[in-house]
Amino acid sequence: MRQRRRNRALQRSRRATNPTQYRLSARQQQRAQRRQAAGLPPVQVSVPGGARMANAAGIPVQAYRRDQLSAGYLRLRAQAAADGAARTQAGRTRARIVAAGIVASHGPDLVVEAGDLGAWARRWGRSIHAFTPGTLLAAVDREAAKVAALAGGGGLVRAGTRDTAWTQHCLCTARVPKQLHHRRHTCPHCGLTGDRDLVAALIGAHTVLTDPAVPGTARVDWAAAQTTLATHGMDAIKEGLQGARRVGRGSLTRGPPQIRT
Ligand SMILES: [Zn+2]
Repeated sequence: MRQRRRNRALQRSRRATNPTQYRLSARQQQRAQRRQAAGLPPVQVSVPGGARMANAAGIPVQAYRRDQLSAGYLRLRAQAAADGAARTQAGRTRARIVAAGIVASHGPDLVVEAGDLGAWARRWGRSIHAFTPGTLLAAVDREAAKVAALAGGGGLVRAGTRDTAWTQHCLCTARVPKQLHHRRHTCPHCGLTGDRDLVAALIGAHTVLTDPAVPGTARVDWAAAQTTLATHGMDAIKEGLQGARRVGRGSLTRGPPQIRT
C-alpha cells in the first residue's frame, strides 16, 4: 500500500519536473478547450496527466534517463531502495530464526520432500511473503549443516516425491490419494484414520535415502513407521508434533509457517 503511494508520488514528481514530456489528460484537455471556446486565457498545468510524448513507434521523444529529477524525487527513490533492502534482510533474519527453531526441536537430521518450490509459493500466496520457501529451506540447510558438523548427523536431505509421496500413502503402504483440501486421512484398506499432515509427517520421518545427495534414492521404511505408530500411538505423535510446532511455527511437512507482518 505504502509502496503504491510512493510510486504514485514518484510518477507525479517526474511529470511535474518534466511537464513538456507529457500530454494533457483527457480531462485537462477538455478544460483547456472549454476555456479557449469561452475566450479565457489558458491555465498553466503543472502536472500533465496524459501519456508520455512519443514517436509513432511508441518510443519516448526524450529518454527517461535524460529527465530532470527533483531532490525530493531522488530522496524518495533512495528511500524505496533502502526499504526494499531492509525487507529482504528482515525476511532472511526471520527465516534464520525459524530455521534455528526447527533444527532445535527436530535435530539436524531432516528430510524434506524435494518439489517444485515455485508451485508451493503460488499455492500459499501471500502468507509466505515474509520469506520464500527457498529462503527458509536454505536457512534450514545451513543451520542443520552447522549443527550436524558440531554434534554429528546428516543435515538436511531432499527426498524425491515420486516414490515416497508422503501425503498420498497410508502407513500400511497402500496408496490413498488425497487432494489438498482433503485434510483427513482415511484408509479403506487398513482403516487407519488421522490428520493428513500427521500421517504424512510420520511417513516423512521414516524416509531414508540410500544416497543423501540424490533425492531419487529416497525410500520409506514402512516397518519402522508402523512400529513408531504401534509404540506411541497417534495421540502421542500429535502432541510431539504440536510441541515442535510451537517452537518452529510449522514443521517442514506442513505448509509454510504462517508469519504475520
Ligand atoms: Zn492403510
